[in-house]
Amino acid sequence: MSDPEHPDPVQVRRAYKFRAYPTRPQEGRAVRLLADHCDLYNAALMERREAWRMRRVSVSYGAQSAQLKEIRRADPDGQGCHSFTAQQQTLRRLNTVFAAFFDRVRAADKVGRKQPGYPRFKPYQRFGQVLFVAGDGAKWQPSGSGRWARAAFQAVGSVKVRQHREVRGTVKALRLKREYRRWYVIVITETEPVPLPAAGRSVGVDVGVARFLTSSDGEIVANPRFLAASAQVIADLERRKARARPGSGNRKRLRRAVAREWRAVRNRHRDFHHKTARALVDQCDAIALEKLNIESMTRKPAAKPDPDRPGSFLPNGAAAKAGLSKSILDAAWYQFTCILVSKAEEAGRRVVFVNPAGTSINCHQCGRRCERLQQKTVTCPVHGAMDADVNGAINIASRAGLGSGQATTAA
Ligand SMILES: [Zn+2]
Repeated sequence: MSDPEHPDPVQVRRAYKFRAYPTRPQEGRAVRLLADHCDLYNAALMERREAWRMRRVSVSYGAQSAQLKEIRRADPDGQGCHSFTAQQQTLRRLNTVFAAFFDRVRAADKVGRKQPGYPRFKPYQRFGQVLFVAGDGAKWQPSGSGRWARAAFQAVGSVKVRQHREVRGTVKALRLKREYRRWYVIVITETEPVPLPAAGRSVGVDVGVARFLTSSDGEIVANPRFLAASAQVIADLERRKARARPGSGNRKRLRRAVAREWRAVRNRHRDFHHKTARALVDQCDAIALEKLNIESMTRKPAAKPDPDRPGSFLPNGAAAKAGLSKSILDAAWYQFTCILVSKAEEAGRRVVFVNPAGTSINCHQCGRRCERLQQKTVTCPVHGAMDADVNGAINIASRAGLGSGQATTAA
């Protein structure tokens, strides 16, 4: 008999990103692989675009996938030499882009807003990755004692990979990825969740600008210090780069320095997020958070989120320093949430998202609207001044049905 409250443990998906070191000839073939997949992507986009323009109909993934055989036969030295299932993944990727586009069209229709922009063709430089099904056109060989790991890709070869951590679970897919001049292999696995013993603690968590997070039982995690320092360094480098002569060696060096600094920020941040999420998941049976407004987050012009790694940024060269810290924080929160959810799933812990409306301003004891004259403190007309973040966290906890707050019943 199956218990609907506790369905069979679902598989937990994990992704491990490793730096890859293709040889010169392999790199040439990998570039060719990306270009061919980019052509396929753009051709499929063209078909969808025409169908939409002429007849306002959408072409399905299935209809496009059914044409692959023909496309491969017609181009034996090009499309024909690549992995069939990897090509399907590229068509799926386009399908996802279109599903999101149609969602935006429907949303815009509903409120009478301007129609969203149609999905665009990708230039070769912007098409940086191909997803392979493991065991079909791609193979992962983990590193043994002191040896390199290897990832073999059809039409590229067996590429050396620096495997810096253990890969757990069954390897399901491999992604070959180019970022600027570096290559990476992303190993995607599935594992059975390993439930942790009950911890007896459940919390609401409030995220702030002043502090990284505050729990409903009063635990505070400060913002990491490296944040402000990095924003300063990046802003300085950007300013110097802007002054350097276009096309000069100096400008090129500065551009690389900016990219390096961003990479360092991302890595330090990810580390911090993993540690913080680990601690929460180890200590809490259930964790409540505010539901994020991703849409308003991605609409911000200053930031340029990397679609493959939520929460990380590509250097966009034009970020003003004031906006920079803020957008790093927003993105950081998103990344932290993703990491927390994945760790919680793996450990059989519960994460609950609640509607954020009013959580930061209403009193957790009586639900009355508080005054917030300072960032740190809210003042209830009945219960007086209290820590704004703790109050918010308690409201989040009670909205999720955790903890003892009374925020739902306004007197
Ligand atoms: Zn009150």
